[in-house]
Amino acid sequence: AKQQQTLEFQAEVKQLLNIVINSLYTDREIFLRELVSNAADALEKLRYRTITDKEVADPDLPLEITIEVNEQDKTLTISDTGIGMTRDELVENLGTIARSGSRAFLQQLAEAEQKDLNLIGQFGVGFYSAFMVARRVQVLTRSFVPGEEGCQWVSDGVGSYTIDQTRGLSRGTKIILELKDDAGEFASPDAIKRIIKRYSNFVPFPIIMGGEKINTVQAIWVRNKNEIKDEEYTEFYKFIANAYDEPFYRLHFTADAPLAINALLFVPQENLERFGFGKIEPGVSLYCRKVMLQQNAEGLLPEWLRFVKGVVDSEDIPINISRETMQDSALVARLRKVLTGRFLKFLGEQAKADPDKYSEFWKKFGIFLKEGAASDYAYSKDIAPLLRFESSKSEPGKYISLDDYLARMPEKQKHLYYINGPTREIIEAGPYLEAFKVRDLEVIYTHEPVDDFVLTNLAEYKDKKLVSADQAELDLPEVEEDKDAGADAARVEGLDLKNLLAFMKQALGDRVSEVRESKRLVDSPAVLINMDDGMTSSMQRVMQALHK
Ligand code: ADP
Ligand code: MG
Repeated sequence: AKQQQTLEFQAEVKQLLNIVINSLYTDREIFLRELVSNAADALEKLRYRTITDKEVADPDLPLEITIEVNEQDKTLTISDTGIGMTRDELVENLGTIARSGSRAFLQQLAEAEQKDLNLIGQFGVGFYSAFMVARRVQVLTRSFVPGEEGCQWVSDGVGSYTIDQTRGLSRGTKIILELKDDAGEFASPDAIKRIIKRYSNFVPFPIIMGGEKINTVQAIWVRNKNEIKDEEYTEFYKFIANAYDEPFYRLHFTADAPLAINALLFVPQENLERFGFGKIEPGVSLYCRKVMLQQNAEGLLPEWLRFVKGVVDSEDIPINISRETMQDSALVARLRKVLTGRFLKFLGEQAKADPDKYSEFWKKFGIFLKEGAASDYAYSKDIAPLLRFESSKSEPGKYISLDDYLARMPEKQKHLYYINGPTREIIEAGPYLEAFKVRDLEVIYTHEPVDDFVLTNLAEYKDKKLVSADQAELDLPEVEEDKDAGADAARVEGLDLKNLLAFMKQALGDRVSEVRESKRLVDSPAVLINMDDGMTSSMQRVMQALHK
């Protein structure tokens, strides 16, 4: 048997450890995520080996992770029954940095004022994060290869480590952390439970502490849809959304291209913003192979989809992507694009399959889609078919889509028309609709000022212009029986229209920019119209309110 050896860390490792040991970090608890994810990787590899290799050591050991704490001695032990390491593998894996790019990472870390160790795992050096909290780390490990001896690796992270042979080990790896004085909190079972729940709750192997499994909820998003019961989905939703009810909608999907994605998204029953709870925070968390990278990550979905809850798992996202990197990462932008597109498509499918349920969704969450359509140029076209409105041809309280409108619109009609007013009654009592009523043209009713921003921003739908019914130039189709109305009638009564208009303009002064003859009115003697092409009157009211 080989005796004890003392070996120098590779220069890069020394440099890295120097930074890890001597810097202050706010997110030190991520070391546990790193060690648990290493344990899970080792178990995953072992599981694979049991399929491909004929023999593994200790075949009857259950595949699990065990955590022990000793509050007295301030130690924390993480054990797994995974693949283990041979002596050579120990030297290779825990003494050198194998991955390329580590130098750049080190440089970045060395220069950064605020050192973000979240990046550490990106370069295959997550293990060393243990030295953030431990003054001494001991690794006891035995390879799954039958006949391999057990080994002990010990280091204080300064310059070198020792390796020795150890008897009596079973398959797998045990990592013992002797905690630093200021890291005693990590010997508390409650703290460990909290951290495990936060980062490693969905690790696909049981994590046992004090004889109990502490990761309770399974990573159901990676399972086959057909094998998951509704109750399981609901339980999972309640867990991630801190909810007590069932989700309103759920979308579970897998994609391979352009990114490998497993996503499980939920729409809650209620929109809490409606009840004055303030702006909803993002509710979708990012995972890589069931290990959480970021809880409720910003930027995974556009802001206007902030009501969506769920998880996204992508093995294409490097583990330990930092919060800062997350926001402007090109990968995340691609992820956001795929997720948003798929979610909007899903809403379209739901609207078709069950229009009543979609109406209900629309009542609660439509405001978010309007926000998107009014503000997010990248998606307004995709959102447009999902918009719902009341109209002169819808029953009160029922909705139509722009496609419904197009489908029944007469051929000679050129544009889509809409009019804003606080209620259906007020709109229908006003003079603007007359010209449309006699021509049997449908007018979309919008009740909130944001609607006009949405429709103005869209500007057109399927090549038809969206036109506010209070605009000056309506360009309506001719009405046959119109011949003897309007100007003709005025002439019959011998009224000098030109003088009347001039008189009215004089009387009204600056309050109007022009008084002109109109063919749009049927019963009303006069109507106020909007001369500004860019803004509808309700938008003007909003702007005026803002400038007061
Ligand atoms: P990464 O996990 O990204 O490879 P780490 O620094 O976390 O980087 O770990 C380095 C290597 O050490 C791993 O790739 C693995 O080969 C080995 N290793 C770490 N922990 C374990 C473990 N619990 N069981 C087996 N091998 C491990
Ligand atoms: Mg790792």
